[in-house]
Amino acid sequence: MAYTITLIPGDGVGPEVVEAARRVVEAAGVQVKWDVQETGEKAVETSGSPIPDKVLESIRMNKVALKGPITTPVGTGFRSVNVAIRKALDLYVNLRPARSFSGVKSPFLDIDLVIVRENTEDLYAGIEFEQASPEMRHLREFMETEKIKVNEDAACSFKLITWKGSIRIVRFAFEYAVRYKRRKVTAVHKANIMKATDGLFLRAARTVAEEFPEVEFEDRIVDNMCMQLVQKPELYDVLVLPNLYGDIVSDLCAGLVGGLGLAPSANLGDKAAVFEPVHGSAPRYAGQNKVNPMAAILSSCLMLRHLGEEARAAQVESAVTQVLSEGKMVTYDVKSASEESLVVGTKEVADEIIARIKEHSGKLY
Ligand code: NAD
Repeated sequence: MAYTITLIPGDGVGPEVVEAARRVVEAAGVQVKWDVQETGEKAVETSGSPIPDKVLESIRMNKVALKGPITTPVGTGFRSVNVAIRKALDLYVNLRPARSFSGVKSPFLDIDLVIVRENTEDLYAGIEFEQASPEMRHLREFMETEKIKVNEDAACSFKLITWKGSIRIVRFAFEYAVRYKRRKVTAVHKANIMKATDGLFLRAARTVAEEFPEVEFEDRIVDNMCMQLVQKPELYDVLVLPNLYGDIVSDLCAGLVGGLGLAPSANLGDKAAVFEPVHGSAPRYAGQNKVNPMAAILSSCLMLRHLGEEARAAQVESAVTQVLSEGKMVTYDVKSASEESLVVGTKEVADEIIARIKEHSGKLY
């Protein structure tokens, strides 16, 4: 069966890593008609918008997209296209597995964590008031009626956490744990300080946990969680977090297993799913055939699983594992500085993974 999948090359190194993932998916024998859509800087040049309507329409229609990273200007310019896609399509789950690969330098060898990050709420909801803006003045005036003094030079971002949003993300984490036979779910929060928002998230987590007595449940305060993940990551399994903590903690976990070049992710909603590497557009490496395509390739494995192509996903993952454990055809980020002369480029890594897939073709497992 041929799938139609939206393909978003993205900015910076995006087109190179997405092309690598596309070639690998095809080499695994999956028939795909790619519906290529431009976003970000290129789309601004051609259509005046970083996220033209036709991009969202394409994902809505195809229900599945493979996406490269998109540059977000810092401080000024257009808002994050990534956040806009997640909000527009209600992709409320950001799933980020982090597991150790042999051959990758890291003090930790047996990490197998799954981060379930809420993807639409929290400080990422985009409700922000600029310093000295009329909206900020109204807000300050309102706060004064509540006897809360806010300095004139303040800017403000709202942290919005809802009961419905918290329940559905925690339920996803437990359902994932049951489906993939994981032993424990840990809810991460700062409810000791943010009693209203994080307190609500924690109450929701405890409520959902009661529906799943077969899965162990516990909670951790986010700062303690960061320390524990660095000291004893083996104690943890599936983590469920509000948006901002999820973003930070999942990068921490990516660091534990060898860096952003190996970190895949899935953005999942009830009607659509977008798969992308965790890393950004790394503009200084754009067009240099330098960065690791494995994060994008492993994201395509999550996509294949989502499509029900379990055997082909396992075949690609196995080829990636093999290439990493041999350590010969890998990019700079997987080697130590003294071995830099031995590294290969983005395209060569993809070629090697494809060669391994072809060696095993016919032996699906
Ligand atoms: P980044 O992830 O692009 O790069 C940080 C560093 O990580 C790079 O300099 C590089 O050393 C390393 N790195 C990243 N990807 C790698 C790979 N595949 N292989 C090897 N090394 C890799 O983060 P940044 O510099 O903070 O962000 C650059 C731009 O990307 C920003 O505009 C940011 O907003 C955007 N961004 C987009 C997404 C997304 O589209 N989902 C995610 C994160 C950042």
